[in-house]
Amino acid sequence: EKPEVTAEEAKWITNETVNSFKEYVNPGFLEYRKTVTLDTQFAAVEWSDEGACFKDVNGNQYIDCLGGFGIYNVGHRHPKVVKAVEHQLQRQALHSQDLLDPLRAMLAKILAEITPGDLKYSFFTNSGTESVEAALKLAKMHSNRTTFIAATRAFHGKSLGSLSGTAKGMFRKPFLPLVPGFRHVPFGDIDMMRKTFEICALVGEDVAAVLLEPIQGEGGIILPPEGYLQEVRVLCDEYDALLILDEVQTGMGRTGKMFAAELYGVVPDILCLAKAFGGGIMPAGAVVAKEKVFKNFFDNPFMHTTTFGGNPLACAAAIATISVLLEEDLPARAAEVGDYFLARLKEAVKGHEDKVLEIRGKGLMIGIEFQNDAIGYNFAKGMFDEGVLVAGTLVNSKTIRIEPPLTIAVEEVNQVVATVEKVLS
Ligand code: PLP
Repeated sequence: EKPEVTAEEAKWITNETVNSFKEYVNPGFLEYRKTVTLDTQFAAVEWSDEGACFKDVNGNQYIDCLGGFGIYNVGHRHPKVVKAVEHQLQRQALHSQDLLDPLRAMLAKILAEITPGDLKYSFFTNSGTESVEAALKLAKMHSNRTTFIAATRAFHGKSLGSLSGTAKGMFRKPFLPLVPGFRHVPFGDIDMMRKTFEICALVGEDVAAVLLEPIQGEGGIILPPEGYLQEVRVLCDEYDALLILDEVQTGMGRTGKMFAAELYGVVPDILCLAKAFGGGIMPAGAVVAKEKVFKNFFDNPFMHTTTFGGNPLACAAAIATISVLLEEDLPARAAEVGDYFLARLKEAVKGHEDKVLEIRGKGLMIGIEFQNDAIGYNFAKGMFDEGVLVAGTLVNSKTIRIEPPLTIAVEEVNQVVATVEKVLS
């Protein structure tokens, strides 16, 4: 039974709750909440199951092109994922002992099989941030080095370690100095990457690892130039550094392959997962690494631990999610529908060069870059008023992301394109 929420009650959820929060909520936060969500007087009450739409309290239907910031690859509540979690809930919800439940081992085995190359062992986490943290620690332990190379416009999370890789000044400044040893180079510039390796070696600061998103998400959906990731891989090998690919957003089929690494024929030493990994039902993440890297965690089993990471509910959700992605061939669907979507959008923005700078993407990870933030914001608002949910990205706010569930119907894609045409004209 879905709970019924009337328009009157939804208003209470938005306005009255905030009023009652006023007594104990920091006013800055309150202002933020007000501008971001509460002024919209909006509450989604009915989400599709494996689909890409939802309804508000007044029964208006929307197409979800935000996808929970990249978590709804298999839809909002895929019945198989829900069932797996419900079933596990009847048995055991949480515990933190590998030996008591086979699910963690089963999930690790599945990941060893579906990830590219010789990625073999997994450590489970509760979020993308934690996956990146674990990856950084694995790299430090493996190499005994402290220098990391990350990219401008990167987003890897906001804990102190992951924020050290994230490249937006506004997020970093209040917390400086962050973890020492991080250098940022322009994403896609292989010469700068090479030079940075050379300089680091010259000054005796050998590189532990390069940390990259294969396709930058929050930076504004930025694709790597041809050959870039392969060349980075070669450089890492040359300097005996590790390659960490943060696939928190690109993983689980979104870009047209199960992992974006496969698009570029690159095998990282460590792969970070989260977001859609839990099927939009459970928070879940993982780092999957090669044996030589993971060995340090085996040798020092208490060096990096987590109580809830890899809990039975999260594992049940992740296993079911992977099986849905495979059974329904959703990565291939993302490739096919994504190509169609991108082509149609490129057509739709023709003649609007005064507003739109570029459209780019891979699979169902698409970005529309506008001439400036204000135009992007007005576009997102206009789309929402016309029944399509889209949003900006965190690092480059003039790019609007389109990351719907991979199950989005072609008719819905057509509807989104028609709405883009309407809102731009
Ligand atoms: N890495 C990437 C590439 C991301 O896009 C994000 C979140 O947007 C993160 C890491 C952080 O993940 P989380 O918000 O689950 O901690």
